[in-house]
Amino acid sequence: MSAPSERARSAARCISVTGIVQGVGFRPFVYRLATTLGLAGWVANSERGVEIMIEGPPTALETFLGELVRHPPPAARIDRITVEPTTPRGLVGFVIRESRTGQRPTTRVSPDLAVCEACLRELFDPRDRRYLYPYVNCTDCGPRYSIVLSLPYDRPRTTMKDWPLCPDCAREYHDPTDRRFHAQPIACPICGPQYVLHDPEGTLLARGQAAIREAAALLRTGRILAVKGIGGYHLTCDARDATAVQALRERKFRKEKPFALMVASVDVASTLVELDEQACALLSSPARPIVLLPALVVLPGVAPDSRELGIMLPYAPLHFVLFAAGAPEVLVMTSGNRSDEPIAYCDTDAFARLGGIADAFLVGERPIARRVDDSVIRMSRVGPIVIRRARGLAPAAVATLPSERPIVAVGADLKNAITLVVDGQAIVSQHLGDLDHWPVVEAFEAAIRDLCTMYEIQLERALVVHDAHPGYVSTSRALTLPGEHRAVQHHRAHVASVLAERGAWSETVVGLAFDGTGYGDDGTIWGGEVFVGSLSQGFQRVAHLRPSVLPGGDAAARWPVQAAAGFLAALGELPDLLAPPFSFPDRFSQARQLVARGVQCFPTTSMGRLFDAVAALCGFTRPTSFEGQAAMWLEHLAQEGPPVPPYPFPLVGSQLDFRPLLEAVIADRKRGRQPTEIARAFHEAVAVAAVTVAAEWCAALGLRTVVASGGVFQNALLLARMAELLQARGLELWTNRAVPPNDGGISLGQAALAACASSTG
Ligand code: ZN
Ligand code: ZN
Ligand code: FE
Repeated sequence: MSAPSERARSAARCISVTGIVQGVGFRPFVYRLATTLGLAGWVANSERGVEIMIEGPPTALETFLGELVRHPPPAARIDRITVEPTTPRGLVGFVIRESRTGQRPTTRVSPDLAVCEACLRELFDPRDRRYLYPYVNCTDCGPRYSIVLSLPYDRPRTTMKDWPLCPDCAREYHDPTDRRFHAQPIACPICGPQYVLHDPEGTLLARGQAAIREAAALLRTGRILAVKGIGGYHLTCDARDATAVQALRERKFRKEKPFALMVASVDVASTLVELDEQACALLSSPARPIVLLPALVVLPGVAPDSRELGIMLPYAPLHFVLFAAGAPEVLVMTSGNRSDEPIAYCDTDAFARLGGIADAFLVGERPIARRVDDSVIRMSRVGPIVIRRARGLAPAAVATLPSERPIVAVGADLKNAITLVVDGQAIVSQHLGDLDHWPVVEAFEAAIRDLCTMYEIQLERALVVHDAHPGYVSTSRALTLPGEHRAVQHHRAHVASVLAERGAWSETVVGLAFDGTGYGDDGTIWGGEVFVGSLSQGFQRVAHLRPSVLPGGDAAARWPVQAAAGFLAALGELPDLLAPPFSFPDRFSQARQLVARGVQCFPTTSMGRLFDAVAALCGFTRPTSFEGQAAMWLEHLAQEGPPVPPYPFPLVGSQLDFRPLLEAVIADRKRGRQPTEIARAFHEAVAVAAVTVAAEWCAALGLRTVVASGGVFQNALLLARMAELLQARGLELWTNRAVPPNDGGISLGQAALAACASSTG
């Protein structure tokens, strides 16, 4: 993803090329050239040649044009090239557009795109035949991945197959000069699907525009609605109605995890969160992700304990019509599910699962082919951090890898996403979810099947890559697939994901992989790991967090006090933690007994659990109700504290020794130091320790680049401090930009290590 600030200064060109430019690898060449230069846009075969839409910084555009003319593929011959300036559209990524000539495209299915300006104008023009029609779209916008049933991408193979085009729509579809030429999902009120409003029992309440007006009215009176969107159902209510928000939490069994918001406009957003130019660009990009931004207001029940709000702008035409019909201008727009199940996307399933939650259902008649959640991106001082990569971003290619052979990488069990490497392009699926839910396992298998079919991969020929964890569901499923199998260690995959995004196939780096849990080489739980190496040579573990124990194993991830009991056991004489200011629940004493008896204790070097332990010491003594909650709580606490010196967190031999750190935290707590300052000093300690060990190895080996990945690096404060400290030493910090640093990025790293290892040996 290119930085939105660059996009603001970007220019765009519409280029058409004629000559021998089809069937000679011209489009892949253009694709590679554009992606190497960080330019966005698309290339497609046209009747007479190749069309290119390209945008980005003017200097890169010049380079692009020069290369295009001077170094086309050997078999190509350019007869004529025309270049016309046009307005940048804020495109994300570069794609090869589907064409009808039967040539094999590198990117066959585009992500779903938000409704474009031209369609929006029609949507609100009373004279237009699509006035207020919630399924307006054109070649520049609308659904793609979420409606494709099979390839090639053609209307009969989409979920629009049951709505034949009326004469007016057919004319647009067949007119090469029309904006809707070969736009597969087009429709109008005469020939297309509609939205309908049902009560939870399925009784029809209203249809068409009346359904949307009625839905808006229900939202104004504090009701909770299930609304079918692009990639699934949302649950929505008035975010400023605390009673409605509370009712939604109770019915959905969602205790504390923040709700995302959809706001009517950027102006409304600016009353809720701190917005800068970069955030605005990201919010309004065609992917329309949920963007996590510093909150200016407190909306009771929406994001407890958080200093941020997750905001998105309307993206489906329906959302615009709903706001125009008078829906409250700030809506909770959360996944249509109970607790942390996957979101509902089929109508019958939605009625079955959301019937006890929603007061009414606003149902679009167009079926959804596959579940695609909203993408989530966090703004930070080191750039946007992708937390969840799904709608609008998947299944676009994110990297180029040196592999002729197709690769299927299945990722990890949490936050699963899979990666396919085809023709050297790494295509990452949408976020699929946690594989401990059966519907997610089904979605995981469907994703492998779907993507392999779409890209014509024969699994027998493929390299199937999985995590080294023998107990992972993803591992056992991978082993049932045909093809050659290869295991990649979890934390090496984290580091590799960053290098893959940058195309740094042979760069030697120091790699930091900090996360909650991953299966280590020695079978213990790793998560505070330092590596040296490269994609082609592999990574050697050179340092790590001092090992501790985790009493109770996996349950410790839900109870920060349990992690605390394990880490504190290393202090020798245990300080008295049962007296104020500490107020640990029984769970803590029970865990300490497990440690004392050495029962159910698992060795770990998990940095994520160290964050949990410190959160517990700072007052987070309840169980977490979602993954990463304690660490997030601690970061937000630290952001309220003033800059302070770090706690001691020394590198002893090859181990980062947390004992002096925890002793200092406890002493400060007893002394009555503010938890905000303690949390801040802890963050500073982790940043200094990470930079110290990285710098030591950089100096020893003459390296300049430090890579950081893993769930801990969703922490914006930590990243910002590390970037500053490294810069002061003349070193550079590389983090994930296209895939999440959490386990959502694992499959890309797996694919990269497999691709580069096989290309060198
Ligand atoms: Zn459009
Ligand atoms: Zn029509
Ligand atoms: Fe991980």
